[in-house]
Amino acid sequence: MNTSRLTSDTPYNYVARFEALMSNSLSHSDPIIVVGAGVFGLSTAWWLTRVGYHNVRVLDRWPVPSPSSAGYDRNKIIRTEYVDGHFSILSQEAIEFWRDPLWRDVFHPTGKICSSCIQR
Ligand SMILES: Cc1cc2nc3c(=O)[nH]c(=O)nc-3n(C[C@H](O)[C@H](O)[C@H](O)COP(=O)(O)OP(=O)(O)OC[C@H]3O[C@@H](n4cnc5c(N)ncnc54)[C@H](O)[C@@H]3O)c2cc1C
Repeated sequence: MNTSRLTSDTPYNYVARFEALMSNSLSHSDPIIVVGAGVFGLSTAWWLTRVGYHNVRVLDRWPVPSPSSAGYDRNKIIRTEYVDGHFSILSQEAIEFWRDPLWRDVFHPTGKICSSCIQR
Protein backbone atom coordinates (compact mmCIF):
# COMPACT_ATOMS: atom_id res chain seq x y z
CA MET A 1 0.00 0.00 0.00
CA ASN A 2 1.25 3.45 -0.87
CA THR A 3 0.89 5.64 2.21
CA SER A 4 3.24 8.41 1.13
CA ARG A 5 0.46 10.74 0.03
CA LEU A 6 -1.03 10.60 3.52
CA THR A 7 2.09 11.34 5.48
CA SER A 8 2.37 15.05 4.86
CA ASP A 9 -0.70 16.50 3.14
CA THR A 10 -3.57 15.47 5.33
CA PRO A 11 -4.69 17.52 8.31
CA TYR A 12 -4.63 14.78 10.93
CA ASN A 13 -2.20 12.31 9.45
CA TYR A 14 -3.25 9.38 11.60
CA VAL A 15 -0.73 7.04 10.07
CA ALA A 16 2.25 9.07 11.21
CA ARG A 17 0.65 9.67 14.62
CA PHE A 18 0.03 5.97 15.10
CA GLU A 19 3.59 5.07 14.16
CA ALA A 20 5.04 7.76 16.43
CA LEU A 21 2.88 6.73 19.36
CA MET A 22 3.84 3.07 19.04
CA SER A 23 7.55 3.62 18.51
CA ASN A 24 7.68 5.77 21.66
CA SER A 25 6.38 2.96 23.82
CA LEU A 26 7.29 -0.42 22.30
CA SER A 27 10.08 -2.06 20.38
CA HIS A 28 9.26 -4.05 17.25
CA SER A 29 9.88 -7.36 18.98
CA ASP A 30 7.70 -6.70 22.05
CA PRO A 31 4.71 -9.05 22.27
CA ILE A 32 1.38 -7.36 21.56
CA ILE A 33 -2.01 -8.95 22.14
CA VAL A 34 -5.09 -7.44 20.52
CA VAL A 35 -8.33 -8.69 22.06
CA GLY A 36 -11.25 -8.78 19.65
CA ALA A 37 -11.03 -9.59 15.96
CA GLY A 38 -13.64 -7.10 14.85
CA VAL A 39 -12.75 -4.41 12.36
CA PHE A 40 -10.91 -2.32 14.96
CA GLY A 41 -8.88 -5.20 16.36
CA LEU A 42 -7.96 -6.58 12.94
CA SER A 43 -7.08 -3.20 11.49
CA THR A 44 -4.98 -2.36 14.55
CA ALA A 45 -3.10 -5.66 14.21
CA TRP A 46 -2.70 -5.15 10.47
CA TRP A 47 -1.22 -1.67 10.92
CA LEU A 48 1.08 -2.88 13.68
CA THR A 49 2.54 -5.54 11.41
CA ARG A 50 2.77 -3.07 8.54
CA VAL A 51 4.96 -0.74 10.58
CA GLY A 52 7.26 -3.52 11.77
CA TYR A 53 5.81 -5.14 14.89
CA HIS A 54 6.26 -8.84 14.28
CA ASN A 55 5.01 -10.36 17.54
CA VAL A 56 1.32 -9.48 17.27
CA ARG A 57 -1.45 -11.88 18.22
CA VAL A 58 -5.20 -11.31 17.88
CA LEU A 59 -7.53 -13.16 20.24
CA ASP A 60 -11.23 -13.66 19.73
CA ARG A 61 -13.82 -16.06 21.05
CA TRP A 62 -14.64 -17.02 17.44
CA PRO A 63 -12.62 -17.82 14.34
CA VAL A 64 -12.27 -14.93 11.88
CA PRO A 65 -14.61 -13.63 10.58
CA SER A 66 -16.20 -13.46 14.00
CA PRO A 67 -19.99 -13.79 13.83
CA SER A 68 -20.16 -11.56 16.94
CA SER A 69 -18.45 -8.66 15.26
CA ALA A 70 -20.55 -5.73 14.10
CA GLY A 71 -18.89 -5.89 10.69
CA TYR A 72 -19.95 -9.50 10.03
CA ASP A 73 -21.75 -8.88 6.78
CA ARG A 74 -21.11 -7.50 3.32
CA ASN A 75 -23.03 -4.26 3.25
CA LYS A 76 -21.11 -1.61 5.14
CA ILE A 77 -20.88 1.94 3.86
CA ILE A 78 -18.35 4.67 4.49
CA ARG A 79 -19.47 8.28 4.65
CA THR A 80 -17.98 11.64 5.47
CA GLU A 81 -20.95 13.54 6.90
CA TYR A 82 -20.51 13.88 10.64
CA VAL A 83 -21.52 16.60 13.06
CA ASP A 84 -17.97 16.53 14.45
CA GLY A 85 -15.59 17.71 11.70
CA HIS A 86 -12.82 15.58 13.21
CA PHE A 87 -14.66 12.44 12.09
CA SER A 88 -15.28 13.89 8.63
CA ILE A 89 -11.57 14.41 8.08
CA LEU A 90 -10.77 11.00 9.54
CA SER A 91 -13.21 9.31 7.17
CA GLN A 92 -11.83 11.26 4.19
CA GLU A 93 -8.38 9.95 5.05
CA ALA A 94 -9.79 6.44 5.41
CA ILE A 95 -11.43 6.65 1.99
CA GLU A 96 -8.05 7.43 0.44
CA PHE A 97 -6.74 4.19 1.93
CA TRP A 98 -9.73 2.26 0.67
CA ARG A 99 -8.91 3.39 -2.87
CA ASP A 100 -5.70 1.39 -2.76
CA PRO A 101 -5.86 -1.52 -5.26
CA LEU A 102 -5.33 -3.88 -2.34
CA TRP A 103 -8.98 -3.38 -1.39
CA ARG A 104 -10.53 -3.44 -4.85
CA ASP A 105 -12.43 -6.65 -4.10
CA VAL A 106 -14.18 -5.17 -1.09
CA PHE A 107 -14.34 -1.40 -1.72
CA HIS A 108 -16.95 -0.38 -4.26
CA PRO A 109 -17.35 3.39 -4.66
CA THR A 110 -20.96 3.38 -5.78
CA GLY A 111 -22.22 6.78 -4.74
CA LYS A 112 -25.47 7.02 -2.85
CA ILE A 113 -28.90 8.55 -2.89
CA CYS A 114 -30.16 10.43 0.17
CA SER A 115 -33.83 11.05 0.58
CA SER A 116 -36.12 12.21 3.31
CA CYS A 117 -39.73 13.04 3.80
CA ILE A 118 -41.58 15.37 6.10
CA GLN A 119 -44.81 14.15 7.62
CA ARG A 120 -47.49 16.81 7.81
C1 LIG B 1 -26.15 -3.17 12.38
C2 LIG B 1 -24.88 -2.34 12.25
C3 LIG B 1 -24.63 -1.68 11.06
C4 LIG B 1 -23.47 -0.92 10.92
N1 LIG B 1 -23.21 -0.30 9.73
C5 LIG B 1 -22.05 0.38 9.56
C6 LIG B 1 -21.73 0.94 8.31
O1 LIG B 1 -22.46 0.81 7.33
N2 LIG B 1 -20.55 1.62 8.19
C7 LIG B 1 -19.69 1.75 9.23
O2 LIG B 1 -18.62 2.36 9.07
N3 LIG B 1 -19.98 1.24 10.44
C8 LIG B 1 -21.15 0.55 10.62
N4 LIG B 1 -21.44 0.00 11.83
C9 LIG B 1 -20.51 0.19 12.89
C10 LIG B 1 -19.30 -0.72 12.71
O3 LIG B 1 -19.72 -1.97 12.20
C11 LIG B 1 -18.70 -0.90 14.08
O4 LIG B 1 -18.39 0.36 14.62
C12 LIG B 1 -17.42 -1.72 14.02
O5 LIG B 1 -17.59 -2.88 13.26
C13 LIG B 1 -17.01 -2.02 15.45
O6 LIG B 1 -15.85 -2.81 15.36
P1 LIG B 1 -15.12 -3.30 16.67
O7 LIG B 1 -13.92 -4.07 16.18
O8 LIG B 1 -14.89 -2.16 17.60
O9 LIG B 1 -16.15 -4.22 17.48
P2 LIG B 1 -16.87 -5.58 17.07
O10 LIG B 1 -17.12 -5.65 15.60
O11 LIG B 1 -18.04 -5.67 17.98
O12 LIG B 1 -15.82 -6.72 17.40
C14 LIG B 1 -15.54 -7.10 18.71
C15 LIG B 1 -14.91 -8.49 18.66
O13 LIG B 1 -14.50 -8.79 19.97
C16 LIG B 1 -14.82 -10.14 20.24
N5 LIG B 1 -14.94 -10.28 21.67
C17 LIG B 1 -15.84 -9.68 22.47
N6 LIG B 1 -15.63 -10.04 23.74
C18 LIG B 1 -14.58 -10.88 23.72
C19 LIG B 1 -13.88 -11.57 24.72
N7 LIG B 1 -14.24 -11.47 26.03
N8 LIG B 1 -12.84 -12.34 24.37
C20 LIG B 1 -12.45 -12.45 23.08
N9 LIG B 1 -13.08 -11.79 22.08
C21 LIG B 1 -14.12 -11.04 22.42
C22 LIG B 1 -16.11 -10.40 19.49
O14 LIG B 1 -16.29 -11.79 19.20
C23 LIG B 1 -15.88 -9.58 18.20
O15 LIG B 1 -15.28 -10.35 17.19
C24 LIG B 1 -22.58 -0.78 11.99
C25 LIG B 1 -22.84 -1.44 13.20
C26 LIG B 1 -23.99 -2.22 13.33
C27 LIG B 1 -24.24 -2.94 14.65
